[in-house]
Amino acid sequence: MSETEKKLIEVSNLKKYFPVKGAFGINKNKYVKAVDDVSFYIKKGETFGLVGESGCGKSTLGRTITRLYDVTDGKVIFDGRDIARLGKKELKPYHKRMQVIFQDPYSSLNPYMNVSEIIDEPMAIHSNLSRVERMEKIEELLKRVGMKKSDMEKFPHEFSGGQRQRIGIARALSIEPEFVLCDEPISALDVSIQAQVVNMLEDFQKDMGLTYLFVAHDLSMVKHISSRIGVMYLGKIIEISESRNLYKNPLHPYTKALLSSIPVPDPKKASAALNKIIEGELPSPMDIPTGCRFRTRCPYATPICSEKEPEMKEVDKGHTVACHLF
Ligand code: SF4
Repeated sequence: MSETEKKLIEVSNLKKYFPVKGAFGINKNKYVKAVDDVSFYIKKGETFGLVGESGCGKSTLGRTITRLYDVTDGKVIFDGRDIARLGKKELKPYHKRMQVIFQDPYSSLNPYMNVSEIIDEPMAIHSNLSRVERMEKIEELLKRVGMKKSDMEKFPHEFSGGQRQRIGIARALSIEPEFVLCDEPISALDVSIQAQVVNMLEDFQKDMGLTYLFVAHDLSMVKHISSRIGVMYLGKIIEISESRNLYKNPLHPYTKALLSSIPVPDPKKASAALNKIIEGELPSPMDIPTGCRFRTRCPYATPICSEKEPEMKEVDKGHTVACHLF
């Protein structure tokens, strides 16, 4: 791997389990296995698309990597250092280097703060800029995301969903991070606005050399922005490929089903389209089937699929898949 292809993030055997609460408190024997032994890497400067149905664990994976959640087990190597078990104080410099753009721009913006206060908040914590310099930077950032200086005094409720997402982007980029988790940043927006936001993210990436993990619920949303894509199912990544190759030559039966459900912008409808192709609902992450976790919905399942969980295998350069058919 050349210098330009250096790994910024390498995740090894990562697990994030949530304990289940019952009538008598937490049940220590039952867990929601939201992320269950995931390994992959993200190269410096690339956009890695992460796709899967609602409830597959993709947002939890992103939030565990950025340490918004504690790690149950495994490693998260960020720029050469394992940050999986760092405490709050040791994590502070990494929180400056890693930022998040959330799906719902309304609930992620403090309704009692005006736009300048919202964008200033991370800069006041993480930068050495004076207040005057920070205000100049806010003005400049607002211009870059297509908003006006006069918007600085306004509050989140005065803006449309697309404008609120622009404010969220300006806030995340104000402290010049290296890595940004884009957690379904366009799913809640009108189709007409989605392309504008994606183009804006691409422009920032070029100018600032950013690395993105772009989470989405269907493959059509990550098609243009991602250099590589990982497909997630029930807590595991089951296929990784260069973007163009994944659309041309999908291998895993689940990836094929996801591709057949394009284009359906609404996640509920996308799921319904998928269920027509593969019978059955997504199983609960509390009751993961033995063997291949996709076998209860897979039309090609054979006896080995219930006995052994398939491991990720490289079948072509840069194209890995977890399925006994390969
Ligand atoms: Fe289907 Fe078996 Fe492959 Fe799983 S391992 S996707 S059940 S063929």
